[in-house]
Amino acid sequence: MNKGVCLKFVGGYLHRRKKTYNDTEYWVCVEQYCLGEMTTINGQVVSGPEDYFHEPSLGKYVSRKQRNFAKVDAGQNPSKRCREIYDSVNSEITNQLQLDPDLIGTNLRPFSGLKATIN
Ligand SMILES: [Zn+2]
Repeated sequence: MNKGVCLKFVGGYLHRRKKTYNDTEYWVCVEQYCLGEMTTINGQVVSGPEDYFHEPSLGKYVSRKQRNFAKVDAGQNPSKRCREIYDSVNSEITNQLQLDPDLIGTNLRPFSGLKATIN
């Protein structure tokens, strides 16, 4: 995992790990100000997911990541083509979120949508 950030996708919500106590892990929703949370023991959900302020948010989270990655990638590689940036950004997101690529795929913005961000 990169940067020590651990993410878990359950019930349509993306969580980051807040703390760990023995085999118990406490997770909170990645959305700011949201109180969504859950608890897992040995990777099994034992409490929650509950108390979200919003509808399942993976799509929103993924498209925001996609936009941010694309900007960084385009900034670092000025000669890179939009299509290459799009592909590398998408594989970066799939790796980082540790999700089923199909699940990510349905939540990624189409190439045409991202191109406007890159240029
Ligand atoms: Zn939330």
